[in-house]
Amino acid sequence: MLGAGVVGTTSAWYLSQAGHQVTVVDRQPVAGNETSFANGGQISVSHAEPWANPHVLPRVIKWLGREDAPLLWRWRADPAQLRWGLRFLLECLPGSTQRNIAAIVALALDSRRRLQVLRQELALDYDQQTRGILHIYTDRQEFAQALAAARVMRGFGLDRDTVDVEKCLIIEPALAGARDLLVGGDYTRSDESGDAQKFTRALAERAAAAGVVFRHDTSIEKIANGGCRIAGVVVNDGERAELLTADAYVVALGSYSPQLLRPLGIRIPVYPAKGYSATLTLAPGSVAPFVSVTDDERKLVFSRLGNRLRVAGTAEFNGYNLELNPVRCAALIERTRQLFPDLQTQGEPAYWCGLRPATPSNVPLIGRQRYDNLWLNTGHGTLGWTLACGSAAALTDLIGGRHPDPVFPFLGR
Ligand SMILES: Cc1cc2nc3c(=O)[nH]c(=O)nc-3n(C[C@H](O)[C@H](O)[C@H](O)COP(=O)(O)OP(=O)(O)OC[C@H]3O[C@@H](n4cnc5c(N)ncnc54)[C@H](O)[C@@H]3O)c2cc1C
Repeated sequence: MLGAGVVGTTSAWYLSQAGHQVTVVDRQPVAGNETSFANGGQISVSHAEPWANPHVLPRVIKWLGREDAPLLWRWRADPAQLRWGLRFLLECLPGSTQRNIAAIVALALDSRRRLQVLRQELALDYDQQTRGILHIYTDRQEFAQALAAARVMRGFGLDRDTVDVEKCLIIEPALAGARDLLVGGDYTRSDESGDAQKFTRALAERAAAAGVVFRHDTSIEKIANGGCRIAGVVVNDGERAELLTADAYVVALGSYSPQLLRPLGIRIPVYPAKGYSATLTLAPGSVAPFVSVTDDERKLVFSRLGNRLRVAGTAEFNGYNLELNPVRCAALIERTRQLFPDLQTQGEPAYWCGLRPATPSNVPLIGRQRYDNLWLNTGHGTLGWTLACGSAAALTDLIGGRHPDPVFPFLGR
């Protein structure tokens, strides 16, 4: 298993439970230390509408030139960025969006159910909240557009119910101070939230106890081509380089997957979409939401993680840049104060940014790719936490020669 983010770690777990001997290689000292580290925490089937949809282009144009824009495209002399952008435009066609929503909802429903089973079986605690997700809207036109997407998702079996402002405040009273901003919402009772990194580390511990070998602080330098099969993986732990061999290799390297696949002649449409988060420690007794909240206009989510509030989101297409931009950090806090003016916090916010492994459609790449023994589980974009368990279980089925349940465009089928 190449990569110990939430996707690689869940894959290692399901594969080991199916009887495979698994070794996980990752350059970080612990599991879940890169993009899975401080994400928005939402298990959000209700977030199945991809960024690529018929309404996104006017919004991107409206935000052009704004340093704090929810979606910010920075042009680079990078053919991969251009190719990705052109494919993104194609995915904005209504038929493509509909097809992508259907695939994501199918996998996400399966994934959420599997997460619930796993949590119960292993008694995992990762600051989870099971009070649903409330999408709020502050713009009438966007609310009207969202109603259409909500209808589509209901058609695929999701309980995403449209609610008025009063009902929003009943569902999450901590929004009372934002009453005048809101125009409506929709509520998915069955959605959840929780700390993805805590989950990943807890599951990695269980996996190690069940026999999975984790090789941390070990960088993957090359996947070696051996004709129609992969011959091995060249890794380096800082002291020596080594060729690791296995029956099968799974690439779960998040945004870095394309870099290791390109020398094999495999070009996948994954591009890093940088997102930000701020984690606020709540003062005792502070008003703060328990229901996870999605602010559609600013592309932000708010998740309660124990005595912390995580605010996360926005996207910046700027290559592999991981610098924290103070303007974008400040925008997170400003919006938090607008929506939750009564929030009381302690200490300074912990800012973070990570690179979502984004495909133009937001549909991840799961399945066999070109070589008999090479498998992908990558490209989960905005929904890697939501889709992790379902993707891992589907990958395990595919490797075991079985047909996964969700109706989804798995690779190599
Ligand atoms: C701001 C933000 C908010 C988000 N909010 C949500 C949310 O609310 N809900 C949701 O479902 N998703 C959310 N996401 C998306 C989610 O976090 C990602 O889709 C998910 O973390 C991707 O997991 P991954 O395992 O594929 O990648 P990663 O977690 O990045 O794991 C890849 C692993 O590969 C390792 N690696 C890479 N290259 C090498 C190499 N050469 N050698 C060795 N190891 C290597 C890395 O160390 C890393 O551990 C959010 C993302 C961001 C940035």
